[in-house]
Amino acid sequence: MKIIAGNWKMNGTQQQLKTMISDLSSVETQNTVILCVPFTMLTTPSDKISLGAQDLSRHTHGAFTGQISAQMIAETGAKYVIIGHSECRQYNGDTNSIVRQKATNALNNGLIPIICVGETMDEKQAGKTMAVIESGVRESIPSDTSTPIIVAYEPRWAIGAGLTPTAAEIADAHNLIAKTLSDMGLGGTPILYGASVKGSNAAEIMSISNVDGVLVGGASLKSDDFIPIITSVK
Ligand code: PEP
Repeated sequence: MKIIAGNWKMNGTQQQLKTMISDLSSVETQNTVILCVPFTMLTTPSDKISLGAQDLSRHTHGAFTGQISAQMIAETGAKYVIIGHSECRQYNGDTNSIVRQKATNALNNGLIPIICVGETMDEKQAGKTMAVIESGVRESIPSDTSTPIIVAYEPRWAIGAGLTPTAAEIADAHNLIAKTLSDMGLGGTPILYGASVKGSNAAEIMSISNVDGVLVGGASLKSDDFIPIITSVK
């Protein structure tokens, strides 16, 4: 059983989400399916799949116009929240330390954080991939938790680019994340791979060691693209 999580980013409408939920309701799968959608769609009823947000404030409440707290997300009924996505690190200045604060808020409100780590192209070319991944895990993830978390390895250079690392590179990254989590007392935490996953590569990626599922951007927007990913593995 795998975890298949979609990230709609700033795309879609409430009607499109209702259509997607209806399309997914007839899919036979043992996999856990999650859709992380814009805040305005989080109250959409969904029986077979769980909804999640894509970010949250690092503050608990107060004068932070435009921000959304973990408690507010939890009140919608959402179960998950992506934290530290590459686009939030790039455009909103999220650092490992901010990601950790956000993850702590999520955990304190019963949300399961999907914490993203991964290297940029510059870091990859400088031979720093493994160091960036390990420090991302150690610095972004609160280890003093008994509440479940999910980690997503997302090579930042590959997101939305139609590029994927080799199977050996994905295996190295996931094995390092699994070992680091185990050192931190978080062994068994699910580790998703994300970046340019589609129906044609999903099964192969999810057969790699320590890949417990996928985080899917562009290919989660249409059921014709998303369903083949969900059904590509048992
Ligand atoms: C993402 O944004 O998390 C992602 C994985 O995007 P894509 O699948 O489009 O590369």
